[in-house]
Amino acid sequence: MNESTKNTNRNRDNNTKRGYIIAIAVAAVIIIALLVIIIKMPKGGPSRPVPTEKVVILSPIVTETQATPEVTAAPTEAPTEVPTPVPTEVPTPTLEPTPDPTPTQAPPTVTPSPKPRIVGGKTSANPAYEGKRLVALTFDDGPQVGATELMLDVLKKHGAKATFFCVGTQLSYGPAAEITKRAAQEGHQIANHSYSHPAFGKLTKEEILYQRDTNAQLIEKITGKAPTCFRVPGGGRGQTVRETIGQPIVMWDIDPLDWKFLNESHLKKYAEENGISYSEAESRWIDIILFEGLHTDLDGEYIWSPPVAEEMKHGSILLFHDIYPASAKAVDRLLTYLEENYGNYVYLPFDDFILTENDTVIPGKVYLTMWRTYPSD
Ligand SMILES: [Zn+2]
Repeated sequence: MNESTKNTNRNRDNNTKRGYIIAIAVAAVIIIALLVIIIKMPKGGPSRPVPTEKVVILSPIVTETQATPEVTAAPTEAPTEVPTPVPTEVPTPTLEPTPDPTPTQAPPTVTPSPKPRIVGGKTSANPAYEGKRLVALTFDDGPQVGATELMLDVLKKHGAKATFFCVGTQLSYGPAAEITKRAAQEGHQIANHSYSHPAFGKLTKEEILYQRDTNAQLIEKITGKAPTCFRVPGGGRGQTVRETIGQPIVMWDIDPLDWKFLNESHLKKYAEENGISYSEAESRWIDIILFEGLHTDLDGEYIWSPPVAEEMKHGSILLFHDIYPASAKAVDRLLTYLEENYGNYVYLPFDDFILTENDTVIPGKVYLTMWRTYPSD
């Protein structure tokens, strides 16, 4: 073999080696590329996006659990309702640190909405009575000579205006009628408490109308003004009564039970049993009613009668009777106490009282307070 042949052989060898190397390299590149493709290519193909969706689903759960602590913040407003359900759902303690800033801001968005109008506020919503507590003092079953005049004197002393629910048979007595005339002249409202004070539950429509109209005529004759509201004897408020009376029916939310404890026979008996004077017995029972409260048997039911002085809320209707001198003394002591301790009570006749925060006084409605009526709205 000559040199040139050797060279060509060597060259051929080199060429084949180079070819191998290139082939191997290309193959390697291809293999690597394939591996890369295989690795990168999703096994499940198009279904792969689902897991990423699953991950997305997880994140709302986190935000939900972040949101729930806002509910835990709510108990400041509604402590009785919220606490029970929430603690069982929330106890992912790891999430607690994050929501802290939000809960303190969240509740205010709830607060402004609930009450569009002030109903039963602590003081009047009427700008003319700003900061005042308006109360309707009402007196039943008079006029009574020897008691109603005392009540009028007490009201005058305190600058209070009230409503007298007069009974026709009482008005028929001349001197008593004169007292009612005086009451009207002094700015009190004279209202209708039936002609002869029967139990209304047993009356027919005709009888109810007779009771209403006979007394209304008497009142108009004495005061020059027909009565505009009615109180049913015994406080009845049945459907027949409501439909027949055709006027606002006035009830009350505060009953001092003066008819039971400040009547003369009860006080006399109490004085005798306890070896004290009548006026001491009177004073003692006025204190019990106004400032202490008592448990008592009422229509077979044992009830707690709270102290009247603590029950006097803005919007209240108070029921007394102007047939006992002791009731006049009780009203005097009550109004004095409220003046000395609060100084913001204003006593208005029923119609004026309702109209301070209502557009009208509605016929057939039974008023328990300035806003609470029966049947309810
Ligand atoms: Zn009565």
